[in-house]
Amino acid sequence: AVRIAGMHKWYGQYHALRDINLSVRAGERVVICGPSGSGKSTMIRCINRLEEHQEGTIEMNGTPLDDDLRRIDEIRSEVGMVFQHFNLFPHLTVLENCILAPMWVKKQSRRDATATAMHYLERVRIPEQAGKYPGQLSGGQQQRVAIARSLCMNPKVMLFDEPTSALDPEMVKEVLDTMASLADDGMTMLCVTHEMGFARRVADRVVFMDQGSIVEINTPDAFFAAPQHERSRAFLAQLL
Ligand code: ATP
Ligand code: MG
Repeated sequence: AVRIAGMHKWYGQYHALRDINLSVRAGERVVICGPSGSGKSTMIRCINRLEEHQEGTIEMNGTPLDDDLRRIDEIRSEVGMVFQHFNLFPHLTVLENCILAPMWVKKQSRRDATATAMHYLERVRIPEQAGKYPGQLSGGQQQRVAIARSLCMNPKVMLFDEPTSALDPEMVKEVLDTMASLADDGMTMLCVTHEMGFARRVADRVVFMDQGSIVEINTPDAFFAAPQHERSRAFLAQLL
């Protein structure tokens, strides 16, 4: 579904991503981890063109990301993204947050968009919150709304960038469980997370990044039991 080859990115003079090669098949779950500043968010953001790369290629279902704006819109509508901070519109209700993009980007009727939104709010188990404003919900509930809102666009791939790291500990599980159930349904997922329990349980592959490079790609079992690289070992040792 996603194919990144020989990709480099610079922020000005700063070489943020170096020769990134990663292919993710449809239905595959990939967890990305690594130290702060290693380029995890930058890589995720390049995939839906929130950041531009300078060298190499990124393809989404065979369509290359380039400067063609129509393609960028097309790709954005196929790639859902959930961030650390939920980025819900505070002045709109949960339901309105969920139907906005389907109505304006996908030109769905309010009725259809509402039916879809209620389906996904049930899916993340908070349909009863539909009429509330984001500020009236807990962090975990807001993050589940953010996931439901992404799903309303019917994405082919979901990108997560540390979706639980801003949450109180007791809310982490409900969000990870929601993500795990998406994974069970066959969603293609790239997740930046330091939740190694989630990685072990859900990931097909773990990608370890350091200093702008992918240092290791491994199955979770092998990555945790016998990391291949000195830097992966050091990273894991420090998590425990
Ligand atoms: P964290 O775990 O802290 O979220 P990360 O692995 O997601 O880290 P990135 O946010 O991708 O790291 O940042 C990679 C590097 O690029 C860092 O050195 C960061 O300072 C730099 N960087 C990120 N965004 C920008 C930007 N907009 N302009 C300049 N440099 C940036
Ligand atoms: Mg980051």
